[in-house]
Amino acid sequence: MSFSDWQPIRCAVCGGVSEHMTLASTDSPGPPDLDTRPAETMRSSLQFWILECPNCRYAAPSIATAAAGAAELVRKNEYQAIKCRFQRHSWLLAQLGHYADAGWVSLHAAWMADDAEDAERARECRGRAVELWKTGKRHGHDFMETTEQEFALVADVLRRRGEFEEALQTCMAGLNEQNLTPLIEDVLRFQLTLISRRDTAAHTMGELPKRPQGGERVTLE
Ligand SMILES: [Zn+2]
Repeated sequence: MSFSDWQPIRCAVCGGVSEHMTLASTDSPGPPDLDTRPAETMRSSLQFWILECPNCRYAAPSIATAAAGAAELVRKNEYQAIKCRFQRHSWLLAQLGHYADAGWVSLHAAWMADDAEDAERARECRGRAVELWKTGKRHGHDFMETTEQEFALVADVLRRRGEFEEALQTCMAGLNEQNLTPLIEDVLRFQLTLISRRDTAAHTMGELPKRPQGGERVTLE
């Protein structure tokens, strides 16, 4: 992981200039978690994914730009009352109708909470991610490339929340998908094992049971 120097950035909402460390590059050679969280070194770069203006608290991947309507939303009490900058950006995206992305940023907020060992906040952020993705689907917004990937992701997010019954139903729905790829089938079957153990911990794609020799596995890469 490498950083660029501290950069002065002019906030697109309030015009204030503040200094921010931004990420120049990362690599992530290891297998990701089942919820797509990357391995090191990108894993540790999470805190730099969302910047925050210290003057008006506008939070975004780049505070130098703001969508139309964002400035007005940032000034609202509801926005200012949200403590985590990831959740503030997620709230902005949801208000602007970008439900799929809002769900992803809420999942990233859960990872931040995991790192801070704040289980309650992590659980809340995961719940919000699923709600946002569901709202997105009602509006015709996909949050992953395929429906089977969406089932696999949501199953993991629900399991990490300890919602085992819902996670189980999500896995079964995923396994009923037509044209299920071997990789996602393996992920869903591994989830079933974790659910049966009442396991809420993070697990990586590297833990998937090996297929028998000659078995085929298509990777996501
Ligand atoms: Zn600002």
